Amino acid sequence: TRVPLIAGNWKLNLDHLQAIALVQKLDWTLKDGKHDYADAEVAIFPPFTDLRSVQTIVAADKLKLAYGAQDLSQHDSGAYTGEISGAFLAKLDCRYVLVGHSERRTLHNETDEVVQAKTAAAVRHGLVPVICIGETAEDLEEHGPSAVPVAQLKAAIDGLAPDADIVVAYEPVWAIGSGQAATPDQAQQVAAALRSTLAEVLGDEAAQRTRILYGGSVKASNIAGFMREPDVDGALVGGASLLADEFAGIARFS
Ligand code: 13P
Repeated sequence: TRVPLIAGNWKLNLDHLQAIALVQKLDWTLKDGKHDYADAEVAIFPPFTDLRSVQTIVAADKLKLAYGAQDLSQHDSGAYTGEISGAFLAKLDCRYVLVGHSERRTLHNETDEVVQAKTAAAVRHGLVPVICIGETAEDLEEHGPSAVPVAQLKAAIDGLAPDADIVVAYEPVWAIGSGQAATPDQAQQVAAALRSTLAEVLGDEAAQRTRILYGGSVKASNIAGFMREPDVDGALVGGASLLADEFAGIARFS
């Protein structure tokens, strides 16, 4: 059985001092609600410059909150100005790293090949890549619901070992930041197709073990519907992850 994962992508929000404040508030709020991490893992994805502070507070206060970066370099070292390696993130005790978020694909021209290389780099450094995939409104119109996300997933996991630890996040581009989430039924339909793809490429064991998240306008008020679907194992949350009460409400998901 898959332990659900509730993940918060902070995007370009909150400096390291604000990060400390939100981590503390989030921890109190989860404790106040008697959050059981065996029922749902909770992870945050702050900006790079916050990670050292997050590591310090998580270690000092023995928090069960997991964290990771929003991106990593496909390279391990060298003349790559501005890049951050998987080794650096592993040293900060990051468990996860997002790869291929739609904002990186569109605003930073990340191709399927780059996303594949970043996925491999994450695994090589002992990080769990959260592979983000999703179709635009035009893709949906042209190709139907699953074709583009399935093709993106196939490209990203190409060459991975069957025992690689990965998470898949299905985020329809039209649902991100729009306030217009997919329906639980739509999310389930694509998640099922993605799980079949995992089975086809990595085998049944990997397909059964790997968590598939839904992302796009997730809130405390709509999470329950997604979590009732058999192939949706959690959520990747943007805007609502910046508010401790709202994000803790999503982590409660009932
Ligand atoms: P919103 O939850 O703000 O729609 O963002 C989703 C997202 O892109 C998370 O990675």
